[in-house]
Amino acid sequence: MESLLIHACCANCLLYPLKVLEGQFQRIMVFWYNPNIHPYQEYKRRLDAMKQLEERWNLRVIYRDTYPIEEWLQAVVFREEKRCLYCYHERLLATAQVAKRGNFSHFTTTLLYSKQQRHEIIKEIGESIGRRYGVKFFYQDFREGWKEGIRLSKGLGLYRQQYCGCIYSEKERYYSQGKGGEHRQTEKVGLSFTKEEVSGE
Ligand code: SF4
Repeated sequence: MESLLIHACCANCLLYPLKVLEGQFQRIMVFWYNPNIHPYQEYKRRLDAMKQLEERWNLRVIYRDTYPIEEWLQAVVFREEKRCLYCYHERLLATAQVAKRGNFSHFTTTLLYSKQQRHEIIKEIGESIGRRYGVKFFYQDFREGWKEGIRLSKGLGLYRQQYCGCIYSEKERYYSQGKGGEHRQTEKVGLSFTKEEVSGE
């Protein structure tokens, strides 16, 4: 039986993927795991939005509601420009492990809905972890439904976040405002990696 565990980075990014995945799998479950959202109150807002969507759409959600922010910061300090690689890896690894334990045939992530994320890298990491755990990584470019996702989110009145999630992305979103753009060179620095770093070899 084809079954899918989908990692949800937030409720908004889950809407379109769930719509298009319906009918492609006999069983779909959602996995919430976002250990680095900053600050904690923002984490809570996103978590609450997920719970709201769970109720409204009658979803089946597994929550890993942990907030090991110290661990996350220690892992990326001095290599902040590579932080997204670690971020993708941790989310996909946790999802694959839960998918394996739950006998899912596939796993994927709502990061593939975001226009800000590096798809080719997420795909490569997902496939590599999938091979290790014997669970297939399901790739689909959900960005095609960007506008539809926003329409659905507004219709549901969900909380809509303004930045990716970590403390660095919060700075990139707000610090450059009012600074005449002089700090814009920090934008998306976390999204550049070498091939070796992606493959982990
Ligand atoms: S910018 Fe987004 S993807 Fe990159 S580390 Fe921060 S939360 Fe993760």
